Amino acid sequence: MSRTAVCLVLALAQTATAQQPITLRAGTLLDGRGGMQRNVVVRVNGSRIERVMAAAGYRGQITYDLSAYTLLPGLIDTHVHLESHFGPDGRASNQGETPAQRLYAAGDNAYRTLMAGFTTVQSIGSPLDSALKALLQRGAVKGPRLLSSLGALSDTSLTPEQIREWVRSQAARGADVIKIFASKSIREGGGQTLSDQQIRAACEEARAQGKRIWVHAHASSAVRAAAQAGCFAVTHGSQVTDADLALLAERGTLFEPNIGLVTQNYLENKARYLGIGNYDAAGFKFMEDGIPRKLAMFQRALRTPGLTLLMGTDATAGAHGQNAREIIYRVQVAGQPARDAIVTATSVAARALGLEQVTGAIAPGLAADLIAVQGNPLLDITALRRVVFVMKDGVLEKGHPPAFASVPNVNPAAWRGRVLTVRKRG
Ligand SMILES: [Zn+2]
Repeated sequence: MSRTAVCLVLALAQTATAQQPITLRAGTLLDGRGGMQRNVVVRVNGSRIERVMAAAGYRGQITYDLSAYTLLPGLIDTHVHLESHFGPDGRASNQGETPAQRLYAAGDNAYRTLMAGFTTVQSIGSPLDSALKALLQRGAVKGPRLLSSLGALSDTSLTPEQIREWVRSQAARGADVIKIFASKSIREGGGQTLSDQQIRAACEEARAQGKRIWVHAHASSAVRAAAQAGCFAVTHGSQVTDADLALLAERGTLFEPNIGLVTQNYLENKARYLGIGNYDAAGFKFMEDGIPRKLAMFQRALRTPGLTLLMGTDATAGAHGQNAREIIYRVQVAGQPARDAIVTATSVAARALGLEQVTGAIAPGLAADLIAVQGNPLLDITALRRVVFVMKDGVLEKGHPPAFASVPNVNPAAWRGRVLTVRKRG
């Protein structure tokens, strides 16, 4: 076939896919709710999943043949910091950078995150996110669906009424979620900072505004205060006791520990962080000591009946695009069953973000947020880092189209060679 003919075929194929439903054939499908199926066809109409059916009886065209891969819903990270990046000097201090440079870096992090199979993230959260979100929504920047807190409260001098006012102003500015610091950083020992009364004011006002709230808390007392105030979610929790975990479960407060990526990434990039704020020798010592402590904490959390665990990485500079390491660590090191870890990063996460009607599972009516990985993550969780295909809202984001483009649904081995030929000449 001539080069022109190949281009014509590809152009026709693209025209066809723009107008007709897209079909994906999957060798293995994990639906994000704990279910697994083999040899299925997923039909996508526009931005949504229309149907999931057995490949055996299907006679139509296949747009993307993923029969050698495992198809999953796009992954979700409930805690990232997309604006966090290493500047031109290689450091995380970002001194002297312009807003444009910072926005560019955040966009780059968004792209890395999407390419790693994360089609939805919650940023906890920078004012820069409103500009980034606008760019992402119109497709000017490629990245995941973004929810953001647009900022955070850490000022302990505010009265409960002033805190309520701040929560209202965040809601009015368009924050999807409210973020407060109820304890110090782990690098400063993690002690409680906001009073129980201040925490309660923030959580009650967030609820009154119809907003979810993420409470940063390491100290046991801060976690307890958040649970008692009925706060929506607690993140970190490195110092929680079994009683605190039981209280979180009893109060229905979601718990988002971060045990497998954030600290490891700080240590791997120590030279890029050291000397900035509380990233000093003592801070690094607290973080290093925190690794085994957080592992043991997570294992206790796993054994706590009724506790809902979330998958948030707290990814900062250096960690973006490696988000799946948190899931892999939870399975490989902490012993969480792979099925549970995957459900936590898909349907459970969607529910925690208020997006259960939007994404988080492969089911009719939900957004066509679909990824394919090499291998079956139920058998080898590291497969989550071998993302070969990403679709978000029905749009192909990763995966060279001809590599997966297909002809009628026949034995894949019979036509795979033909596609390779087209690709080589094109
Ligand atoms: Zn964070």
